[in-house]
Amino acid sequence: MAEQLSGKKFFGKTVYSGITMGNVMVLRGSQERIRRTKIADAEQEIKRVKDAVESAKQQLGELYDKAVKEVGESSAAIFEVHQMMLGDDDYLDAIYHVIRTEMVNAEYAAAITGDNFADMFAGMDDEYMQARSADVKDISARLVRNLSGQGGVDFSTMEPSIIVADDLSPSETVQMDKKKILAFVTVHGSTNSHTAILARMMSIPALIGVPVDLNALQTGMTAIVDGAAGEVIFEPTQTQCSEAEEKIRNEREKIRLLQELKGKKNETSDGRSIDIYANIGSVSDVGYVLENDAGGIGLFRSEFLYLGRNDFPSEEEQFQAYKQVVQTMGKKKVVIRTLDIGSDKQADYFELGKEDNPAMGYRAIRICLKQPEIFKTQLRALLRAAAYGNLSVMYPMIISADEVKQIKTIVAEVEQELKKDEIPYRIPEQGIMIETPAAVMVSDELAELADFFSIGTNDLTQYTLAIDRQNQRLEDFYNPHHKAILRMIQMVVDNAHKCGKWVGICGELGADTALTETFVNMGVDELSVAPPMVLKVREKVRAM
Ligand code: PEP
Ligand code: MG
Repeated sequence: MAEQLSGKKFFGKTVYSGITMGNVMVLRGSQERIRRTKIADAEQEIKRVKDAVESAKQQLGELYDKAVKEVGESSAAIFEVHQMMLGDDDYLDAIYHVIRTEMVNAEYAAAITGDNFADMFAGMDDEYMQARSADVKDISARLVRNLSGQGGVDFSTMEPSIIVADDLSPSETVQMDKKKILAFVTVHGSTNSHTAILARMMSIPALIGVPVDLNALQTGMTAIVDGAAGEVIFEPTQTQCSEAEEKIRNEREKIRLLQELKGKKNETSDGRSIDIYANIGSVSDVGYVLENDAGGIGLFRSEFLYLGRNDFPSEEEQFQAYKQVVQTMGKKKVVIRTLDIGSDKQADYFELGKEDNPAMGYRAIRICLKQPEIFKTQLRALLRAAAYGNLSVMYPMIISADEVKQIKTIVAEVEQELKKDEIPYRIPEQGIMIETPAAVMVSDELAELADFFSIGTNDLTQYTLAIDRQNQRLEDFYNPHHKAILRMIQMVVDNAHKCGKWVGICGELGADTALTETFVNMGVDELSVAPPMVLKVREKVRAM
């Protein structure tokens, strides 16, 4: 099998463009169904559960210690909660009961008990208890992994590896020791998947949509992942290895030189400056923001808090997440975008229904204005967190001044509620995303209503050029450098400045160093980019 693969190149879509070489770790079957099998010795099976619980507690303890270092105590607390839940007698007795009465295997008993408890929590009135539903599922899944020994890779002790999988779930990626991941290669997945976001945050070479047969691969094989070329080579030849080594050396040297720019200003030689902030998708990404010396967070895609789960995150859960981010960032600005669910970012419990054209459908601010109860929960959490730091809010997919006025009315209602309940809050700076041609064309009116603009070039390009940003076939046509886009950006900057408002770019184009000079010359005030791009953009500005 390995011989057939030797030196063969597979191509995929680049998520992050570094290059690496190393051993492959194949993750298989995380979504495999758990089999129900009959057993003869119930006590023996119960002992297996007990052992699995002990290992799980130990794993969670290690995860807790790691998370405290990376994201702080309050975010790490979830692992302590999981440890406590694993010690819960009701939960464990329920598993033992299933084993004894049905004489079935421990994996099945743990899985079915997890589902039952999760349903029970989900049906409770109390918001906090409802949120525990996902936790029960998580601990049960951990038990099943420990019991089955498959998928239960001990990420804390694994050797640095290239992870190859069909796709990766958020819970799988979160568990991995990020320092030990050399690259991600997945057969499926999208550029907006959690794995993709994670890879960009951590500067890990990553490819998705790679048409490789996982059954033909084995853990321990060698591979080269070249993000820039969008290729992975399994069992590379000697020549391919030498070429890759040369590329790796060059890349290391470039990274070393970039480190020298930490602490330096984003200033041109003639004294013009621009803020360079970073984009994040989760609380734990803040570490990468600080590590790469970004001046702030220009886009926190809050919808990732809503993804990969079975129900809405509660106000408290969101408040803790936002507070943690602003507190960790200290005085630095944190722009949190209200949820941009819909289109390619789907969460079943929103029950959005099937649409023929979801990118132009019921999404983002449209959901918030039509279902204000969802919006208000998030706004309450945001206004409360704003009392703890330099938080700004921004609203996605705006097309009219009327929408901004409606938002302001809802924000005023939320403010009244918080005041009445005597809950500490602060009305933050509020901006809007300019990511529709309509918003560009009425940006003069919008500038009077918003505190700032952030240009979402990913969607702006899609809507202006009428090209689906997800459609691989259209990649040759998707040209964010199109004159129409650049003229729109200039128009937005001019209209914002006429009203004394600042304007940033938070779409991928902001990190396109071929345009850094153009943006500075246009008068763009801020660029928000994936954390590993911060120093590269700074280098470009300083070279002007
Ligand atoms: C954009 O559209 O440019 C943007 C930043 O938002 P997202 O990529 O999350 O749609
Ligand atoms: Mg967008």
